[in-house]
Amino acid sequence: MHIVFAASECVPWAKTGGLADVVGALPPVLVRMGHRVTTFVPYYRQVAKKLSDLPVVIPSLTMPYTYYQRYARVLDGGVHEGVQIYFIDCPEMFDRENFYATPSGDYPDNWERFGLFSRAVIEASKILGVPDVFHAHDWQAALIPIFLRSIYFFDPVLRRVPCVFTIHNAGYQGWFPSSIMPRLLLPWDMFTMDKLEMYDQVNLLKGGLVYADALTTVSRRYAEEIQTSEFGNGLDAIFRRRSADLFGILNGVDYEEWDPAQDKHIAAHYSADNLKGKKECRRDLLHAFGMDGVDDKTAVLGIVSRFATQKGFDLLAAIIHDLVQDDIVLLALGTGEEYYERLLGELALRYPDKVRVQVRYDNTMAHKVEAGSDIFLMPSRYEPSGLNQMYSLRYGTVPVVRSTGGLEDTVYEEHDGEGNGFKFHGYNPLDFLDAIRRALATFQNKEQWEEIMKRGMEEDFSWDKPAEEYAKIYERVVANRT
Ligand code: ADP
Repeated sequence: MHIVFAASECVPWAKTGGLADVVGALPPVLVRMGHRVTTFVPYYRQVAKKLSDLPVVIPSLTMPYTYYQRYARVLDGGVHEGVQIYFIDCPEMFDRENFYATPSGDYPDNWERFGLFSRAVIEASKILGVPDVFHAHDWQAALIPIFLRSIYFFDPVLRRVPCVFTIHNAGYQGWFPSSIMPRLLLPWDMFTMDKLEMYDQVNLLKGGLVYADALTTVSRRYAEEIQTSEFGNGLDAIFRRRSADLFGILNGVDYEEWDPAQDKHIAAHYSADNLKGKKECRRDLLHAFGMDGVDDKTAVLGIVSRFATQKGFDLLAAIIHDLVQDDIVLLALGTGEEYYERLLGELALRYPDKVRVQVRYDNTMAHKVEAGSDIFLMPSRYEPSGLNQMYSLRYGTVPVVRSTGGLEDTVYEEHDGEGNGFKFHGYNPLDFLDAIRRALATFQNKEQWEEIMKRGMEEDFSWDKPAEEYAKIYERVVANRT
């Protein structure tokens, strides 16, 4: 099968979170299984800095809006691990400081930017090769299934091409004023409650859910959760309506990139059979955070995260004054909402011997935190899949997580010689603190701790199994449409 991936992020060129990891890692596995994959990504300024002077494969695509047109080029990003990469180039749309937003808010023309991207993917596919199936990711590519079933409805070729739509995070939906309907040349009859409309606005994610042939999300547990009002973010009724076509497939880990036995970014290599190198990584991490000389008995707690409400920083803020009484240091790496960046900065100022924060995006440092910490914290309010807890498991960094979404599917509470981490259920500070303290108490028992570490390190979350599940879904949607 030929599958066209369309996504707003893809490693190694454009990444803010797990979406990029998935879009970078899944296609090469599909290629190894015998499929052909073409991936389209916007040509952001950040991409242009890494890859300039790319060959132009399509010099001009006309992108119509109501009263004007824009023009996009398609650049050939080359073949990587068997996957053909194309970039959609339109400097007015993508040559900007950030991908989606500035610290003061989203770019107001995101509908136009990702409308152009989605339409360009469809038009470019007509020229470069119509796929057997489109695979669109998140609200930024939701206009692909929407367009396919509206303005392209009478296209004799495209009308037979199904679209799989993956929801990486139902908390980000792409809300816009209703005026974008005519601007994107979408018919008003799609602006109804059972289609794109929500509280008198356009909700692009919702449109993707309605018009895609099959829906997937990134863990089994999250696929169940989003059908409830607690996690559905207002879309639970649509998820329930489409539950027969909704599949939860846990994200895999790219162990070429995330494995302490061969990680290029860390101070020393180690594995479940020989943990010696981890000590060196710990020392190196503490040094990188300006905390040389921390005692071996002190537990190093690590965080790598987007600083967003979703990730549970309000819980951390609530417990920190108690937590610093314990024998710990907390090292956090992340960027995100200004509120949380400042909050963490203030905690670091208040407890300089205990808390250190690096507010930046730094892949090398993310690897160092995974390798050098003893315990990894993920108190997420919700977590569709979560990759960091799976990385932590492989790095022998025992995760303390809230039991939600992919965290629930991958972390098992330690008791009586089973389990690979520590979990709490209720989203409240006391339960979080309690879980950390269970972990800290166990940490004092070196033998038991090493067993937990090793159990985690031996887990296998590689991409092979999930890729097979995706392939089955592609086959299913192709069969249903022909
Ligand atoms: P989400 O997609 O919700 O952000 P995930 O756990 O699924 O959460 O994926 C986050 C990914 O982004 C991981 O690969 C993590 O290492 C990376 N990451 C997040 N913040 C940073 C940062 N400040 N520096 C480097 N990598 C980061």
